[in-house]
Amino acid sequence: MTPKQFAKHLALQPYCPHCGDTETLVPNHRANRGAGSPKSLNKPSNILVLCSMMNGLIESDAKAAATARRYGWKLSKWDNPAEKPYYDLVTNCWWLLDDNYNRDKLNE
Ligand SMILES: [Zn+2]
Repeated sequence: MTPKQFAKHLALQPYCPHCGDTETLVPNHRANRGAGSPKSLNKPSNILVLCSMMNGLIESDAKAAATARRYGWKLSKWDNPAEKPYYDLVTNCWWLLDDNYNRDKLNE
């Protein structure tokens, strides 16, 4: 991912949906290690901005990984990220990302 692409993600997701952090944000692949091409891996709907702490915990801590799956921060490699919303604990709502750097707030 280029800095320019990451800047677009930050404009869309300016804080961590877990804790609201704005200082240590990193791009997290929602669905990864799949059979998909690198292009599908890096499509905008597959990128969720998280704080570096949560990003690390998802990979190393079973409880954090379960939380991430429940909230759509982490997806199965078979999921289409553009069809899977993620939950934002800061605003208490679900968002659906698209592949044009937009996000839609979903109604309950
Ligand atoms: Zn966080």
